[in-house]
Amino acid sequence: MKSPVEKLREARDLSDGELRELIESGAYDDELRKSADEVRREHYGDKVYLRGLIEFTNYCKNNCYYCGIRAANTGADRYRLSKEQILDCCKEGYALGYRTFVLQGGEDPYYTDDRICDIVRTIRADYPDCAITLSIGEKPRESYQRYFDAGANRYLLRHETANPEHYAKLHPGSMSSENRKRCLWDLKEIGYQVGSGFMVGSPYQTTDDLIADLRFLQELQPDMIGIGPYITHRSTPFADMPSGSAELTLRMLSILRLMFPYALLPATTALGTITPTGRELGLQAGGNVVMPNLSPTTVRKKYDLYENKICTGEESAQCRNCLEMRVKSAGYQVVTDRGDVKRS
Ligand code: SAH
Repeated sequence: MKSPVEKLREARDLSDGELRELIESGAYDDELRKSADEVRREHYGDKVYLRGLIEFTNYCKNNCYYCGIRAANTGADRYRLSKEQILDCCKEGYALGYRTFVLQGGEDPYYTDDRICDIVRTIRADYPDCAITLSIGEKPRESYQRYFDAGANRYLLRHETANPEHYAKLHPGSMSSENRKRCLWDLKEIGYQVGSGFMVGSPYQTTDDLIADLRFLQELQPDMIGIGPYITHRSTPFADMPSGSAELTLRMLSILRLMFPYALLPATTALGTITPTGRELGLQAGGNVVMPNLSPTTVRKKYDLYENKICTGEESAQCRNCLEMRVKSAGYQVVTDRGDVKRS
């Protein structure tokens, strides 16, 4: 009889019951990891793609219960980067070999569509060979269209959790799972390469919720899937909730690699925060992307989504070198490449 791992690899799918067993039992972890690494090597060899992450604002109008930069956290030290500062980050990133810039921030009304389009247009003109990724939350379809027309190619918006009831336990009533999914479908239709994803071990999450996340991703078929452990932040309503585990995050990463062989799967900063070699383990579990920090060192600590976030002290060049070493030590190599998805 075939193991569930073999079945998943062949069919890229399993029944809910089989998925449950795989998610809840650690018994398949070694086989799962090995299989996921083989599949990533079939599709992407030993290549690891870099995304230069520019965290350009920590102002946010939302109040997600898990997030350290939520509007109601009056203790957060707020900042915004100017267009010039953002362009300086791109310049530095380009010299370091990055061919994708990810502009991420809270939902900050200061950055009107006009301002975002102006920034995107300038980066597009200065770096025609680079991909521009936005990660600035939920917007009307018209806004997404405008950013796209200005030259943005990709958009990252984690669905966070696909089950609307679970979503409602993580977010205030002003936000909905339905609108977040609407955003993802709009982005896809407009023509963006889309990244979605979820937190592992977020408060009240059940195995059924994780299965719902996989089912939603099967529908959406995103190009990139970002997952990381939920990590508690003391200045949030979830201050007393436990963080998620590296173990379950790695297991979910391997499952994602087998279900979505083509996908770009980052070994996330949150995974590297919860355990010191988390990103290396993430690559070995099927990950093929890392997102080094390109933000100015002066603001890094302030983009405080969760506690003890790593890579907040180093210069971008140090970050780049450190990651290159880590990637090598894990058995892979970083490449200077836009790193577009390879569908098959
Ligand atoms: N405002 C943007 C960017 C959000 S920050 C947006 O809405 O997409 C990027 C991601 O960080 C979030 O999607 C969330 O999954 C993750 N995140 C936020 N708080 C976190 C926490 N406490 N632990 C782990 N991940 C967290």
